[in-house]
Amino acid sequence: MTATAIYADRALTPLEEITDCVVLVEDRRISAVGRRDSVRVPPGACEIRAPGMTIVPGFVDVHIHGAGGHDVMEADPAALDAVARTAARFGTTSLVATTVTAALDPTCHSLEGIARFIRDKSPPGGDAPEAEILGIHFEGPFISHARRGVHPEDWIAVPSASSLSRMLGAAAGCGKILTLAPELPGALDLVDAARAEGLVVAMGHTDAIYDEAQAAIQRGARHAVHVFNAMRPFSHRETGVLGAVLTSPDVTTELIADGVHVDPAAMRLLFAAKGAARVVLVSDATSAAGMPDGTYRLGTFEVTVSGGVCRNIHGRLAGSTLTLDRALRNVVALGVPLPDAARMLTLNPATLLGLELTKGVLAPGADADLVLLNSDMHVAGVMTRGAGFN
Ligand SMILES: [Zn+2]
Repeated sequence: MTATAIYADRALTPLEEITDCVVLVEDRRISAVGRRDSVRVPPGACEIRAPGMTIVPGFVDVHIHGAGGHDVMEADPAALDAVARTAARFGTTSLVATTVTAALDPTCHSLEGIARFIRDKSPPGGDAPEAEILGIHFEGPFISHARRGVHPEDWIAVPSASSLSRMLGAAAGCGKILTLAPELPGALDLVDAARAEGLVVAMGHTDAIYDEAQAAIQRGARHAVHVFNAMRPFSHRETGVLGAVLTSPDVTTELIADGVHVDPAAMRLLFAAKGAARVVLVSDATSAAGMPDGTYRLGTFEVTVSGGVCRNIHGRLAGSTLTLDRALRNVVALGVPLPDAARMLTLNPATLLGLELTKGVLAPGADADLVLLNSDMHVAGVMTRGAGFN
């Protein structure tokens, strides 16, 4: 396969800023990245010039329910293709398909479908840009009734090792993240069980007090989903799960930076507490992402989008229509430097998944997942595993 050399004004690796750069892509991987005068481009390489542009790694979304009119729980190839292609249009080159709470049988049916899709796409990499589905994020059913958000009440369950093992069996090795409420009976044992299966354990949809959250962190929970949303609020005497999450250096924190879910001052508080290395920008997008206002599905229920804001029939916020390129611009508008903001949707989520050598990074050996940003930080080009740009 011929090499492709992409020339741009700068690259954010994201830890390093390289001006007047070239990224060399060979055989669907990055083979070199550096200043133009330091990289040997093989003769006959296809050359792409992107003056005025910044190359960043493709975005990694660890919390996304759908896009392009389809929910991942539909779990058929057409639906998952639509999600993967729509996400890629906005710079997301890999994602963790996220389920919502539902009855165990349909949940497992969805998990089987997603796992089959991932297996059939292996090795990933077609001719058109599409996000790679890296695995599955189980958001529920082991969550708090009090903080369930829009997760259907009827299917919320107490932590159960046998339910988890059924889900993991259906997911056939594709399970990546388990979100649970640590205050529930049996939750800490489930943290152990999930970690033993190699899952990242996340706290979310939780009414935990500080001590309960701290106990879960001690047992190995190291991520928190959509921080501030669907969590016991912070109080200075009982700081709750937020107190534990904001002060534990090892815990990474998701943020839905759409300007609707979290007030800008709270976003600034999160950046100040966690720093650029411990914030993970997520979309929490529903099937309505990339679509006009209207009625859509989230998991097994209906949501309505008006003015880009997604709510259930009771008017509660129900995921988002956010795309990660917009999250990036919103965070930069709050004063976060672009290299830090870029890190929050590339290297940080990849590191959470243990994929920091191949995803979310511009480095030799990494997958050729790239985004070209113009000077307004809009996506001007996307490459997934070497496909795209030309
Ligand atoms: Zn949620």
